Amino acid sequence: MDNTHELIWSKCLNVIKDNIPQNSFNTWFAPIKPVKLINNVLTIQVPSQFFYEWLEEHYIELLRKTIKKELGVDGRLEYSIVMDSAYNHTQPYTIHAPTLNRKALKNPPVTMPLDLNKDSGKSVPNPFIIPGLKKLNIHPQLIESYNFENFVQGDCNRLARSAGIAVGQNPGKTSFNPLLIYSSSGLGKTHLAHAIGIEVKNNFPDKTVLYVSCEQFTNQFIDAVKNSNQNDFIHFYQMIDVLIVDDIHSLANKPKTQDVFFHIFNQLHQNSKQIIITSDQPPVEMKGIEPRLLSRFKWGLSADLQIPDLETRIAILRKKMYNDGVEMPANVVELIASSIDTNIREMEGAMISILAQSSMNKKEINTDLANSVIQKFVKSTPREITIEHIQNTVGEYFNIPVDKINSSTRKREIVQARQLAMFFSKAYTKHSLAAIGSKLGKKDHATVLHACKTVKNLYDTDRDFKKHFDELENMLKVKM
Ligand code: ADP
Ligand code: MG
Repeated sequence: MDNTHELIWSKCLNVIKDNIPQNSFNTWFAPIKPVKLINNVLTIQVPSQFFYEWLEEHYIELLRKTIKKELGVDGRLEYSIVMDSAYNHTQPYTIHAPTLNRKALKNPPVTMPLDLNKDSGKSVPNPFIIPGLKKLNIHPQLIESYNFENFVQGDCNRLARSAGIAVGQNPGKTSFNPLLIYSSSGLGKTHLAHAIGIEVKNNFPDKTVLYVSCEQFTNQFIDAVKNSNQNDFIHFYQMIDVLIVDDIHSLANKPKTQDVFFHIFNQLHQNSKQIIITSDQPPVEMKGIEPRLLSRFKWGLSADLQIPDLETRIAILRKKMYNDGVEMPANVVELIASSIDTNIREMEGAMISILAQSSMNKKEINTDLANSVIQKFVKSTPREITIEHIQNTVGEYFNIPVDKINSSTRKREIVQARQLAMFFSKAYTKHSLAAIGSKLGKKDHATVLHACKTVKNLYDTDRDFKKHFDELENMLKVKM
C-alpha cells in the first residue's frame, strides 16, 4: 500500500514538534492520523469537530507553513472527522478546509453525508464564542467542612496532601496538572479534592471553581445531548478555572462522555486551567477508559492515599469528635481505630453508631457497647477457606459426593477431582501436605505433591482442564 501520506505527515510532525510546546503537541497533534494523499491534498483524521476547529483556530499558520514546506505551494490539507458525539454525528465526515486560504476560513465549506447534516452549507459553529453565560453564576458545589484544616496529615497522605496544597496556592501553574488522587474507597479522596477547591477559593476568590462527581458530569452531558445543547455544555465547562471531577473511574465504558471530557480536558489544560480528578485506581490499572484519556491523566501527578496508621486513625477520630462537639473515652476511641483499619468512612460510621446507640438507649459509652457496634462493621471480612469448603465445592462442581472424593478409589474423574481439591487446599489453606493428604483420601504427602504437579501441568497444557480449574477457583472465592 502506498504510504506517502504517512511519510509526508511524519515530516510535517517533525516540523510542528519543533515549533510548539511538547504538551500542545501531545494534545493536538499526536492523536491525528494521516489518511491519504491524493493530488497533493493530504487528508488527516481528527477525533472531532471541536478538534478540527481548535486546530484551525490556533495552528492555522503553522499548518499552512508546514504543508507548504512539505507539499509545495499548491499543497492542501483536508480533515476527516471521526464520529463526534458532541455534534451528533454518527459517522466519519470530511471537512475540506481551505487551509491555505486564510480568508475563506471564517466560513469553511463543510461537506458531510447529507442525511447527517441538517446544517449543510452553514458555517461550522465556533465554540469559542460563549453566548451570554456569566462567570459569576457558577456555584462551586464545595462542602465547607472538607477543608485542609480538617484533613489530618499522616504518612498515608503526605504526597497527595502537599501536592493538593501546592495546587490550591497556585492552580494551573504547577506541574501537577492534572492532579490525580487515587485510593480505594473511604480513604479521603473526596475530602481532599474539596479541600483543594476551598483553598483555591480562599486564595483567589475570583477564580471559577467547580466540583462535580463524574456521575453528575455524565448526567449533565446526557441531558445536554437530549436537549441538543451540547455546545452550551462544553462552553460551560470551558469557563472553569479549576475543575474537580470526583470518581473519574465512572467514565469507564462511556465512550461519548469520555470524548467530551477529553475535549474539555484539552481545552482547560491548554489554557493552564487546573484539573483535579480522583479515581479508585492509578491510571495504569483503570479499565474501560480510552488510551488517549489515560495518557492525559498521566501528564501531571498521580498521588495515592494509603491506609492511615493507627495513630493517624485516632487523630482523625479525635478531630471529628472535636468538630462535632462530642466526647468518648480514650480506650473506646482506640478500640474503634484499631478494629476498623481499612476504611475511614466506616471507622467514622462506627463512631457515629456508638454515639447514637448510647444516646438512644441511655447507655454509657464503654468498650462493651463499642464492641457490639464494631462487630456489625467488621462482620463482612472474608473467612479463611477450609479444606472442607474446598472438598464441598469440588464435589458440587463435578457432581461427585464428597465421600467419593475422600475414598481411595482410582476412577479417573474422581482422581482428578481429588487432585484439584489437593491443589486448592495447598494453595488456599495453611495446612501441610501431610495434613491435606490425610483429609483427602488418606494419602501421604508425596501423593499430594504429585497431585499439585499434575494439576499445574494439566493447567498449562489442557484447555478443558484449565476451564474447569478457573471456574472452580471462582466458585471457591465467591462462596467464601
Ligand atoms: P473517598 O472519597 O476516598 O471514598 P472520603 O473523602 O469520602 O473518601 O472520606 C471518607 C471520610 O473519611 C470522610 O468523612 C472524610 O472526612 C474522612 N477522612 C478521610 N481522610 C481523612 C483525613 N486525612 N483526615 C480527616 N478525615 C478524613
Ligand atoms: Mg469519594
